[in-house]
Amino acid sequence: MTVWDSLIGQEKPLQEFKDAAVAAAQTPAGPEMTHAWLVTGPPGSGRSVAARSFAAALVCPDAGCGECVDCQDALAGRHPDIEMVTPEGVSYKTADARELVTKASIAPLRAKWHILVVEDADRLTETANNVLLKAIEEPSSSIVWILCTPSAEDVLPTVRSRCRLVRLTTPETQAIADYLATVEGLDEATAVFAAQAAQGHVGRARALALDAGVRERRNKVLRFPSELGDLGSCLRAAQDLAETAKADAVAATESQDQKELADLAQAWGEGAEGRGVRGGARGLKSAQKELEDRQKSRRNRMERDELDRALLDLLGYYRDVIRIQVEGSEGAEGSTTELINGEHRVEIEHAARTSTPGDTLGRIEAIERARQALIANVAPQLALEALAIELRSPHLRANELHNSELAAT
Ligand SMILES: [Zn+2]
Repeated sequence: MTVWDSLIGQEKPLQEFKDAAVAAAQTPAGPEMTHAWLVTGPPGSGRSVAARSFAAALVCPDAGCGECVDCQDALAGRHPDIEMVTPEGVSYKTADARELVTKASIAPLRAKWHILVVEDADRLTETANNVLLKAIEEPSSSIVWILCTPSAEDVLPTVRSRCRLVRLTTPETQAIADYLATVEGLDEATAVFAAQAAQGHVGRARALALDAGVRERRNKVLRFPSELGDLGSCLRAAQDLAETAKADAVAATESQDQKELADLAQAWGEGAEGRGVRGGARGLKSAQKELEDRQKSRRNRMERDELDRALLDLLGYYRDVIRIQVEGSEGAEGSTTELINGEHRVEIEHAARTSTPGDTLGRIEAIERARQALIANVAPQLALEALAIELRSPHLRANELHNSELAAT
């Protein structure tokens, strides 16, 4: 085992990281090492995994052996010289960036380097970008910044120009299936199913392979198109999908929310008796309010991420439909056409027979519009209602249809 085992299908970036880790262990560090890195790649390509692996290699005296206590602690997320930060809500505020810069002034405790990984750095506001820029421009000798974003254009050019760029790409389905089989020890059928269904998203593939709840939610999403009959059924299906996403977000954050609130109360000495307690009550209340706002923002983001995943599953469904419409259900020499959602082949073939490629393209566009609407902060249920109506009648925009049908009733 090495620290790189979870980085899937990324030969070139892997070599760059390995060379840098070896150079970083030399005194002085070789030219392959530098203080600021920008790791880019599409969602699910493994940006965070790459950053964590690289950070582990930097704290390891042996450039990432995978066996020593530094490697083990780094991979388990408990190395004192590695900080991985994620935005709590939809963006990093200036205060978050200042806190990071303060952390960056601390010398490493155990290793040669102190590594700060900024996940989703595309969520840095412009001011937050500028706060980080100053720290990146004048790094202390032992600090390493690793910023992760979908693309290099997601940070300010001034920040980008000071970072060394490492580009990850979407891993091949086969590479993901191999990883699930060899590293996660899954049987081949499950590994192949999950890799195909995840469409290049490694984290999604893992979740689909390991979590029955995730598979069930995905099946529910894929049943969505067949539930769209009259206008009423469209609205019900949309409401159902929106509520499921909300419930999932609550379920995923609930225990963490409660623990944070309990920790906060304890820090403020709730339940303690005697002097100062009454005076502290007001401060506790406002700290609770602030925490609850942050938790709400985190839940909201999770709900939107969950819905986006559902929409990506639907996109995969219609990609399958159009594939059958264009190529037929059998490929050359009578082999069946390979689908993303092979286990839903019967419905997909039915959908392909009963619609035209033009319909399917209209539906794919409707899904993309719904994704954009969610990014633009449209209320999920409204975006999904419009989507449901447009999936049913792909040549009409929801607002026109909605009005004409409402007028008819
Ligand atoms: Zn090691």
